[in-house]
Amino acid sequence: MTVPAHQLSPSSWNNYESCPRKYWLSRQRLPRKAGMAATIGTAVHDSVEDMCNLDLSSRDADEVGWLPPTAKAILDLHWDKEKEIFLGTPRHPAFKDGEIIRAHDLLIGSLNLLISNAKIGKVRMSEVSIAQWRMVQDTVLAAEGTLRSSCGRLMGRLDLLVKELDEDRNPVGWIVADLKTGKMPTGGLYDTVSRQLRFYRDMLLEINPNAPKVRAQGWYSAGPKVYEAEGPSVLDDAFRAWEGMAITKEPLEANPDEDACRFCEWKAWCPSWFYSRTNGGLPPSEGLFRDEVAIVLQFDSASGACMVELLSSKDEEGGIIPSGRTIGIICKGQSLDQMREVMESDHRGAVFLGSIRSNSRPWAMGDWSEVLPWTPLLESVRDRK
Ligand code: SF4
Repeated sequence: MTVPAHQLSPSSWNNYESCPRKYWLSRQRLPRKAGMAATIGTAVHDSVEDMCNLDLSSRDADEVGWLPPTAKAILDLHWDKEKEIFLGTPRHPAFKDGEIIRAHDLLIGSLNLLISNAKIGKVRMSEVSIAQWRMVQDTVLAAEGTLRSSCGRLMGRLDLLVKELDEDRNPVGWIVADLKTGKMPTGGLYDTVSRQLRFYRDMLLEINPNAPKVRAQGWYSAGPKVYEAEGPSVLDDAFRAWEGMAITKEPLEANPDEDACRFCEWKAWCPSWFYSRTNGGLPPSEGLFRDEVAIVLQFDSASGACMVELLSSKDEEGGIIPSGRTIGIICKGQSLDQMREVMESDHRGAVFLGSIRSNSRPWAMGDWSEVLPWTPLLESVRDRK
């Protein structure tokens, strides 16, 4: 099989659907940004995987009280590993050590979902015996596996493939379960999550044509609560999307939209949200937190006090024009380090200021904010011509 130049995964598909430019920028080897939500998610996922693969062969079947300390020790190891990765990521806010408590709760929620699926009866974590956990492990067909379509174009990382049991614990099918460590949906599953879950289901059926009945579920650890994804196959749509996702030299089109842009980590390289905001396509920046493109007029490296002039967008290629509006900003913590770095670098010109708190004067930037050189990629593509 020839390996295709690009592959579609559920997350790249979501990126592409929400904004093709966001997907394109994510493939430009730009400095990545770490976030606590992803760190918590990975630490919990990896801990669940380890708990599923735990070697218990030499342990006494009746032993109880082992599960909570074992789960905690495994999480601690993964937490330290993820912290190192987080701090080694080029763009990262301050690491919140206290979030391990949330990660721990989510891990316990995930293990409860596995216990409930294994139908071993209602049992407290501290009372789960080695024999009962072996029964749980027996229901796990795969913990973390890669699914790849026969043509190699589609791929996805599956969290859990477990047996579905009836009330007498007889296997009646498979459940492809995606562990979700984020917020629970308030109504049903979001369309994007339903599509992702059905993608795993359909890929599994493509790879295993003789599989028993397969159900796709989102396992929300925060509940813990299970949501079922139902509906037709999504594979034809996935192949269609794959066609448009080839990485071209020219940037793919932008789709500035409130939801897509709000947490987009590539704003400092994307002129389109800025142009759209200047021209009324996106709402004006007036909430508690705002993003701006500005020229730094004065910067006191010792105190973090800055005076900046806010800019407006001239065109969709990254051109800027002065707005005449000057604002004082105090930078602290992480944002002060970044401001110093940008000011001491070779960069001349505008800066991107992400997540400025603007409910008081002067405005404030801190560990939650970001200071980056404004380097819209369209401009650099145009300059290369
Ligand atoms: S900032 Fe908005 S328009 Fe630009 S890439 Fe991100 S989502 Fe797309």
